[in-house]
Amino acid sequence: MNLILFGAPGAGKGTQSNLLVKRDQLHQISTGDLLRSAIKNESQLGLKAKGFIDKGELVPDELVIGMVKEVFALHGNGFILDGFPRTVNQAAALEVLLKEFHLVVNKAIFLEVPYKTLLTRLSGRRVCKSCGTVYHISSKPTSIESVCDECGGNVVQRNDDKEEVIANRLKTYEEFTIPLKKYFKQTGQYAEVNGDQDEESVYMSIKSSMNL
Ligand code: AMP
Repeated sequence: MNLILFGAPGAGKGTQSNLLVKRDQLHQISTGDLLRSAIKNESQLGLKAKGFIDKGELVPDELVIGMVKEVFALHGNGFILDGFPRTVNQAAALEVLLKEFHLVVNKAIFLEVPYKTLLTRLSGRRVCKSCGTVYHISSKPTSIESVCDECGGNVVQRNDDKEEVIANRLKTYEEFTIPLKKYFKQTGQYAEVNGDQDEESVYMSIKSSMNL
């Protein structure tokens, strides 16, 4: 099974991908995570991407498409694309890549979450710098302030989860990513899941949409 998980920033793509990785032996291809790790490593790609990410803008298509191509060259079936494609242009490029690697996407699952919930989730989100565990200041706080329960690492707010950047990310999402709903409806891969539920219920809804 190969999946695309798409939706607004804060819709829960990362959280659900983690569950699918642990329970269903799928591998996650998160372009956001790949870009953040490129920035951490100060690679050429990271240096090019940082300015866009910090402003809440999309990184140019050719950079993210190149990154996904590298992952496809290493891993085959059993993937979740998390945060890619994010534009119709990327979706068209993905079709070409899939053909090249003889792969097929079975479902493109849209996580539907109301705007107000997205704002609450994004502004309160905190992330461990070492292991990436995600927390929330009110719904999932760390036991000791700013210390990761899992690894003892430093738990911080992502630069792009700051208030002024969130607004831009949501605007970018509306302009570029929402049109993907129509795109995947046309390809017949579209499925919609209510992402405004607890983690387990969202996971169960994703599982049932996978078996349709
Ligand atoms: P995410 O972790 O998926 O929320 O992504 C964080 C940021 O990385 C986004 O706000 C974009 O700046 C960038 N990014 C991630 N995936 C893509 C993509 N498919 N296309 C363009 N930019 C991306």
